[in-house]
Amino acid sequence: MKALHWIKKNKLLSVISSIYVFLLILMPDKGTSAVKNSMYYVLEMLQVMPIVFIMTAMIEAWVPKEAILNSFGEKSGWKGNIYSFLLGSFSAGPIYAAFPVCKMLFKKGASITNIVIILSAWAVIKVPMLANEAKFLNVKFMGIRWILTVISILLMAYILSIIVKKENIPLHNKIKTEAIQSIVVHEQYCIACGLCVKIVPEDFELWNNKVKSKNRKIKEGEIEKLKRVMEECPVKAISLE
Ligand code: SF4
Repeated sequence: MKALHWIKKNKLLSVISSIYVFLLILMPDKGTSAVKNSMYYVLEMLQVMPIVFIMTAMIEAWVPKEAILNSFGEKSGWKGNIYSFLLGSFSAGPIYAAFPVCKMLFKKGASITNIVIILSAWAVIKVPMLANEAKFLNVKFMGIRWILTVISILLMAYILSIIVKKENIPLHNKIKTEAIQSIVVHEQYCIACGLCVKIVPEDFELWNNKVKSKNRKIKEGEIEKLKRVMEECPVKAISLE
C-alpha cells in the first residue's frame, strides 16, 4: 500500500525508473550508460542545489517583497528588464539552479517578462560564457551574438507576458481542509532553515537540528499559513496528508 501511495505521488519519477529498469534488462549496455550519465548529473546537482536552496531561503526570508516588486515587478519597467539581464548574466551555476530562484522571485511579485529574461539570460548570455566565446570565436562574433540574443530574449519575454498570465501559473495546489490528517515534514530534505518555525511556531518545532511537526489537529484558519509555509520551504520538505 505504501509503495502504491509513493508511486502515485511520484508518477514521473516512477515512469523514469521503470524505463531504466527495462533498459537495464533488455539493453544492458544502453541501460548502464544511461544510469552512468544520470548519476553524473545527479552528483552535479547534489553539489550545486544545497547552496542554491540556502541562498534562495535567505533571500526569501530577508529581502522584503517591496524590494522585489520595485526591482522586478510589473511596474519596474526598463529598470526591471535591465536588473533581470544583469541577474541572469552574472549568475553562476547551471540553468536548473535558476528555477528555484525564479520561483521565489515570482512569488514575491516579479513579472513574467522579467522571469523570462532572467531564465533566458542565465541560460545563454552568462558572462563566463561570453568571455569564452570571445576567446575562442572572437569578440565580433560574441558582440553580434549578444545583441541578437538580447533582442530575441526581450521579444520572447514580452510575447510570453501577453500570452501567459500570472493567474495561469499555479503556485500551490488547492488543499481541502477537511481532507487533511496531518502535517508531514520530510526530514531527509529539511535543511533546518527555520522558516516554518518562524511562520507557524504552533505547528513546527526545531529539534536536533531538524524540524518536526507538532502533530496538532489543523484548525480551519491555519490552512492559509500552512499553504504559505509549504510554498516557501526552500526544499519543499513539508506536505499535508
Ligand atoms: S521544513 Fe522548515 S526548516 Fe526544514 S527546510 Fe523547510 S522551511 Fe526550512
